[in-house]
Amino acid sequence: MTEVASRIYRATGVGSSYAILTSDGAIIFDTGLVIQAAEQREKLLEAIGHVPVRKIFLSHSHADHVGGARFWNDGTAELVAHREFLEEQRYLTELNPYLHQRNRVLFPWLPEQPLTLPGLNFRGLSPDRLVSPEAPFAFSVGDRSFVALALSGAEGSDNLVLWLPDEGILFSGDFFGPLFPQFPNIFTMRGEKTRRPFEFMRAIDQILALQPTTLLPSHGSVVSGSDYIASNMLRIRDAIGWVHDQTVSAMNAGIPLSQLMQTISLPAHMNLDESHGKVSWAAKSIWEYYATWFHFDRTSELYGVDQTEVLPDLSRMIDINMALTIIDDHMAHKRWEKAMLLIELMLGSAPHAAEVRERHRQALLGLRQRAEITEHNDYELYWLDAQLRKIKAEDPTSTANGPPH
Ligand SMILES: [Zn+2]
Repeated sequence: MTEVASRIYRATGVGSSYAILTSDGAIIFDTGLVIQAAEQREKLLEAIGHVPVRKIFLSHSHADHVGGARFWNDGTAELVAHREFLEEQRYLTELNPYLHQRNRVLFPWLPEQPLTLPGLNFRGLSPDRLVSPEAPFAFSVGDRSFVALALSGAEGSDNLVLWLPDEGILFSGDFFGPLFPQFPNIFTMRGEKTRRPFEFMRAIDQILALQPTTLLPSHGSVVSGSDYIASNMLRIRDAIGWVHDQTVSAMNAGIPLSQLMQTISLPAHMNLDESHGKVSWAAKSIWEYYATWFHFDRTSELYGVDQTEVLPDLSRMIDINMALTIIDDHMAHKRWEKAMLLIELMLGSAPHAAEVRERHRQALLGLRQRAEITEHNDYELYWLDAQLRKIKAEDPTSTANGPPH
């Protein structure tokens, strides 16, 4: 727990929770992850001295922000969220078993099944007030003034920010993602809906107009300095705009998506950290956001048939030794993606061949080493590590030492 600005307290956790003290009670912004929220609340209450809580703001529907909403709400505080909050909460709840299994691949420390204890249920919230993008919610509590703005952010369309106009302070939630500055994660591997790049760019313009001097995000540390904030916000906006425009140009020019993904990278002056959001994945996401999943090149894509279904047929046509020689040549020249494509075909057709499994491991390690020295994207590393763990689990006697740490 820290006092991050005058009478503004932050209790950190997987997601931070803030208490803003006024002369007439307190405002809460974000409530943390359910298994940490009670302790965060305890610390904040110590700091603000058990004054009444007037309003609770949820920056968006993600688990690490809404976990303590029920602990804070004694029935007198007003719970406030973005208009899209209910819809985001609905689909995240309905798809929870699916999302949980995907999350477990990426984050193996998660429990096997989602937690079902009633006290840990953080879904099914019914905000008292929903803020729409067209109508910011301006109000005062005691000696402090606030404006809540519904702005589609980097982590979903239901991002709500809280602006303290007299103090130049913006509670940004996950508007920018977990780091500032960084390239935003408009595609998330764990399987959420595509995020909307154009709406996010427009929302950045709205925040730029406020000229904040301090950002209080729900992850990471305080960001201060109006010039620093403005210049980096511009860089983020321009980088997304650039990726967006490159993608649209490629679509209009008939350039294949795979080619765009291989060649796209940010110009030097827009360079941003890609550890959370990766530029080539954003390009693919924007492409499919506009054009959906039918890429207009393979008829079989229209039907419920997958290429893996013909892999056993392929195995009867392939000269295994020739295939291994070609894979080795790709790997010797660090063409890891091409090696991986061939390996995946071979695995599907002859899944128990030790030679193929060993090459699979080598190609994953090659991709992993490259990922570490290029974008160092967390999700790419999580995925590659998960595949390496799977190989080791399937064959504990293999030479695999698992991913390097
Ligand atoms: Zn978060």
